[in-house]
Amino acid sequence: MDDRQFRNAMGNFATGVNVITTEVDGEVHGMTANAFMSVSLNPKLVVISIGENASMLEKIRKSKKYAVNTLSNDQKDLSMIFAGQIKEKRHVEFEWLADLPVIKGCSAQIVCEVVNEHIEGDHTLFIGKVVDLKLEECPDPLLFHKGQYKSLEKANAVV
Ligand code: FAD
Repeated sequence: MDDRQFRNAMGNFATGVNVITTEVDGEVHGMTANAFMSVSLNPKLVVISIGENASMLEKIRKSKKYAVNTLSNDQKDLSMIFAGQIKEKRHVEFEWLADLPVIKGCSAQIVCEVVNEHIEGDHTLFIGKVVDLKLEECPDPLLFHKGQYKSLEKANAVV
């Protein structure tokens, strides 16, 4: 099996899009991520998966905390900024929740403390204990499917 075939198979699984944020030595860093999953209700745990070449990896190792900001379909630009798909530096406004920078206007802001870290292949899984969260009424979610941004508006409803 080649890498392309594996990537295509993973790309067939439609996901939402998050920006992971953290702060180290007074500097805020963000990174777009769709590898996110709820792990446990009691205690409340989630997991994110960060590639070995991402600068976010060392930042979370240092801060031992991260926030998950779930994007709406009017926030595609933010996904592109934090994935390095928009090259020029853009100013992004952050607000604060439980001492972590979070992104305004997201449908969910979830603040986590790292309770475990697993290196698996070329990614590291960070298990996060949810310490605070904030929800907002937002438009539909931003979706990612087959390597493209999509929105629910154009998808057919399944009844
Ligand atoms: P950098 O490349 O240094 O930063 C990323 C970008 O964010 C840069 O352009 C930088 O200027 C900007 N930025 C960072 N902080 C700020 C700030 N405070 N203000 C303004 N701009 C800032 N990779 C994974 O490892 N796991 C995933 O789950 C994952 N999912 C993805 C899902 C999607 C839909 C996409 C498009 C990409 C995904 N990626 C994922 C890839 C990942 O987003 C990119 O490889 C990213 O560039 C890696 O970021 P980095 O931490 O190396 O930081």
